[in-house]
Amino acid sequence: MDLLEHQAQDLFAKHGVPVGRYRVASTAEQAREAATEIGGRVVVKAQVKTGGRGKAGGVKLADDPDSAYDRASAILGMDIKGHTVGRVLVTEASDIADEYYVSLLLDRSNRSFLAMVSRQGGMDIEQVAAENPGALIRLPVDPAEGLTPATAARLCVEAQLPPEVHDGVSDVLVRLWTVFREEDATLVEINPLAKLADGSIRALDGKVTVDDNARFRQSGHAEFVDTAAADPLEALAAAKHLNYVKLDGEVGVIGNGAGLVMSTLDVVAYAGEEFGGVKPANFLDIGGGASAEVMANGLEIILGDPAVRSVFVNVFGGITACDAVADGIVQAIELLTADGAEITKPLVVRLDGNNAEEGRRILSAAALDCVRTVDTMDGAARLAAELAAKGA
Ligand code: GDP
Ligand code: MN
Repeated sequence: MDLLEHQAQDLFAKHGVPVGRYRVASTAEQAREAATEIGGRVVVKAQVKTGGRGKAGGVKLADDPDSAYDRASAILGMDIKGHTVGRVLVTEASDIADEYYVSLLLDRSNRSFLAMVSRQGGMDIEQVAAENPGALIRLPVDPAEGLTPATAARLCVEAQLPPEVHDGVSDVLVRLWTVFREEDATLVEINPLAKLADGSIRALDGKVTVDDNARFRQSGHAEFVDTAAADPLEALAAAKHLNYVKLDGEVGVIGNGAGLVMSTLDVVAYAGEEFGGVKPANFLDIGGGASAEVMANGLEIILGDPAVRSVFVNVFGGITACDAVADGIVQAIELLTADGAEITKPLVVRLDGNNAEEGRRILSAAALDCVRTVDTMDGAARLAAELAAKGA
């Protein structure tokens, strides 16, 4: 989950990364009050999960509370790269003497963490990396050791930061590592990290991505979730602990194992080309267990999606054998139709692997009107796509 700037600032403040005083406002009047409380010049900043806000007109200086009101009126409701501004950050204006770039991230390709520092802060860092790669210094961070003061100092030297800021920037880097580790982040970035006129160092922007898989031990992160913006089906799936992502096609997909589901999406999209561009409607991995309850929850979510016209259940039996999954499907359909409801969308089931034959026998013995079985993944994808196209 990507955080908004003010949420990133909260985490920075919690771990001692220097930030200016700030308030969040969702109306121009609140922005005026915030500016009054903070006192002096302030910056009013759009809170959206995208960069380049400055260039888009979403970051404006205000000399006094009345001008903060005007700035906030102009920025609230603005559209920045498809994101509507619902809140602004009002923060004390900084007298900038110099701007740097610092970040820590999970480097998947090297199975490690990476620290990056540049003396060219305040600019688009992708542009710096492309046009002047030598200006962006990267050093690996040993996960066990963490970002040591020695590594931080080396980053400052190699990035050729002015010597007088080495201590201050090193201190920020070490604290930023604490944010990264203790908040289970996969990215923390400050651009610009500013040297102020008085020589002090301050984070003037913040970008943080926290790892959703760590949510179980980061109860504090629940408050960062923007429930208003969440897709209702995704919210329902999350409440049922399902690994579901809404897509915009017509073929509902359920499978066991993320890899199998990913390839199912590809196969459905490919088969769908023959039927006028039918596409998968979602990603849903029900994992290893595939109990009747999990299957029923999964089917309920998928069948509840009005865009879905057919469902492809793709299961490879492993530790949980296909006969158990078939029982799960039969019971799930019983659960869903217990109150007289009818399943009108066709389900195409492909079972392979451990006890596949017994699984198919169970399904045919159950003689469910809505279920068809196909032995191959390609064949099943094709039928599901065809039924989706017909139902349209
Ligand atoms: P971004 O464009 O989305 O990355 O938003 P930033 O938070 O980085 O702000 C854009 C630019 O506004 C920064 O690069 C700074 O140059 C400028 N800026 C931000 N805060 C201040 C401030 O307190 N004082 C001054 N003078 N400029 C600021
Ligand atoms: Mn920035």
